[in-house]
Amino acid sequence: MTRSGIGYDLHRLAEGRKLMVGGVEVPFDKGSVGHSDGDVLSHALCDALLGAGGLGDIGTHFPDTDPKWKGVSSLLFLEHTRKLRYERRLRISHLDAVVICERPKLGPYFPAMCAALAKALGTSPEQINLKAKTNEGTGEIGRGEAIAAHAIATLEG
Ligand SMILES: [Zn+2]
Repeated sequence: MTRSGIGYDLHRLAEGRKLMVGGVEVPFDKGSVGHSDGDVLSHALCDALLGAGGLGDIGTHFPDTDPKWKGVSSLLFLEHTRKLRYERRLRISHLDAVVICERPKLGPYFPAMCAALAKALGTSPEQINLKAKTNEGTGEIGRGEAIAAHAIATLEG
């Protein structure tokens, strides 16, 4: 059986924070504000994977009120979805995602992100497709105040 799940996330950007995207630190003058490391791509992928598995959402598994998750790498969340997926004998067929921010340019970091995400998920980088968009200068993303990501996961099992 083929199962698909969708994920979306947005984080505010502020000075004095690291910009973590897909498990990789991207050099920039701002970073995402969040309880964990604020990795918008990992969070969107996590929700897509949980959705495809019929397993709820990221907030249920990793509540942002729990001090355990403060400042942690969001790759831990993806590693946890791998455990849940193995228990249910679900295999990743494909992951696709788009990250939306005005700056910085993320494309050069995609190979490193695919490698980090694949390692955390126990899949191969070829099964992960990443895309980058700007918001054409409009809204909070266009003003550089936020970063967002959409993701879709397709599982077989
Ligand atoms: Zn998030």
